[in-house]
Amino acid sequence: MLDEFLHEPRVAYFSMEIALRNEIPTYAGGLGVLAGDTVRAAADLTLPLVAVSLISREGYFRQELDAQGRQVEQPASWNPAAFARPLDAKIAVSIDSQPVWIGAWLYVLEGHMGGRQPVLLLDTDLAENSPENRAITHFLYGGDERYRLKQEIVLGIGGVRMLQALGFRDIRQYHMNEGHSALLGLELLRRYSYPPEGLRPGESPYDLPRVREQCNFTTHTPVEAGHDRFTYDLVRQVLNHPIDEATLKHLAGEDNLNMTRLALNLSEYVNGVAERHAEVSQRMFPSYHIHAITNGVHPFTWTAESFRKLYDRYLPGWCHEPERLVRADCSLPDDGIWNAHSDAKRALIEHVQQRTGVALDAQQPVIGFARRMTAYKRPDLLFTDIERLKAIAHRYPFQIVLAGKAHPHDEGGKRLIEQLHRHARTLADTLPIAYLPEYDLDTARLLTAGADIWLNTPLRPLEASGTSGMKAAFNGVPSLSILDGWWIEGCIEGVTGWAIGDHADTSDGDARALYDKLERTVLPLFHDGGDAGWIALMRGAISKNASYFNSHRMMRRYATEAYIR
Ligand SMILES: *Cc1c(COP(=O)(O)O)cnc(C)c1O
Repeated sequence: MLDEFLHEPRVAYFSMEIALRNEIPTYAGGLGVLAGDTVRAAADLTLPLVAVSLISREGYFRQELDAQGRQVEQPASWNPAAFARPLDAKIAVSIDSQPVWIGAWLYVLEGHMGGRQPVLLLDTDLAENSPENRAITHFLYGGDERYRLKQEIVLGIGGVRMLQALGFRDIRQYHMNEGHSALLGLELLRRYSYPPEGLRPGESPYDLPRVREQCNFTTHTPVEAGHDRFTYDLVRQVLNHPIDEATLKHLAGEDNLNMTRLALNLSEYVNGVAERHAEVSQRMFPSYHIHAITNGVHPFTWTAESFRKLYDRYLPGWCHEPERLVRADCSLPDDGIWNAHSDAKRALIEHVQQRTGVALDAQQPVIGFARRMTAYKRPDLLFTDIERLKAIAHRYPFQIVLAGKAHPHDEGGKRLIEQLHRHARTLADTLPIAYLPEYDLDTARLLTAGADIWLNTPLRPLEASGTSGMKAAFNGVPSLSILDGWWIEGCIEGVTGWAIGDHADTSDGDARALYDKLERTVLPLFHDGGDAGWIALMRGAISKNASYFNSHRMMRRYATEAYIR
């Protein structure tokens, strides 16, 4: 099976979620989209990389919203056989002291430039397993802690064994995309252990330096809840001592098995996903060296057809070398940019009409806001002062399109969606607001290209990177955002977009700053600035942001700084 690929993979990229295509719901949000873009960039750059994830047959969930904005979670089952090929190999891991058999599907990611990248999707739904164990790889981020630990055993330990069984003999680097896959390091420790006969008292049987040399860890969140922890009681029951407990506690924490600690201790190369995020992570984990590789998005995937054509004509080669977009400020004609954007905006307006019945006006600016609906993303910040918002909309008309799912257990996030629906009803006469259900890759593509302004209002410093604003930049859409995550690096005031506030750290202060910026700068420029003023900004987003915040730069950096060291 290896023969069909150009290179023998040397890097194994592990991720709990991965967004391969719209029809395959094996992702929940930004982390999975980044994993997908990583493999898409690897395909374009012909990097010898194999990705490992779970099959998640029942997906994350499909979001339905009733008129009140109550989220109803529908199963998102998919049929692996329609997109992937089952492989012969089978391996077992021990869970609850029983063997759990794991099979794998091969999904071949076909890059638009002809690259082909193997993605292994692990599956426990095999006749050999009990009904309970068959379901381990069914629900992405579903179930309780025990279920999650079982999934992480399958991903980490199962993944390494599966690579071995399939004959991937030349894997030199393992890359953990977030801590979910950190148990892979335990399997490597087991592989590289010395026979007990040769050990002197007190000597460790494990060749830790050798494992660390092969492991890379990318941490993705400064939110504590984002770091998986398991009690050692649970670990003893479920995982049954893959290595001795004293060593495990030394590596993963005395009180709990902390997947982030484990990944940090097993990896020689560790990075955060933006410069600020690396600084924040460095403060959280002072005894490790945390590098920064700022995220990027895949150029071809996130550029609307109309802009692809424009770039193909004026900046050929942009897709493989997105750096070429740096010339967008001199090389793209005004009407070319404006027409490309109008096409994308029309497509969004049609979709909004179809899905929600809300009629948007193509002449008025559209503010787009779409992300996971959860407290720290503050989707309600824009609605802090309804009277002020009405007054602004009265003077400078605009419209809002929202989208986003809340995790099924995040009651606060679900309430936020309902609240946004209430605001939409209250404001209907002054300010058209649409909420698109089922935020997925296709919706994200339509929204990030069709909006005029991309809004992001997270609570500092909790936005590790954020990537949707980068997608917007590829489509000439400027961001209006809190200075956090990637935007600290991407914002040039009035050139690529605008900052909301500076160092104010109260929601009141941020809301005021947001209203001020909208009322005094952003909306007046759109309405009264003349086309040239606005188009200059679109050009700034393309030439200064898209040229840099792309997955090709990101993967070249991982290749030269993490994989080859
Ligand atoms: C890009 C993307 C995200 C992540 O966007 P953020 O800006 O990081 O919030 C989440 N979900 C989908 C479907 C996406 O396409």
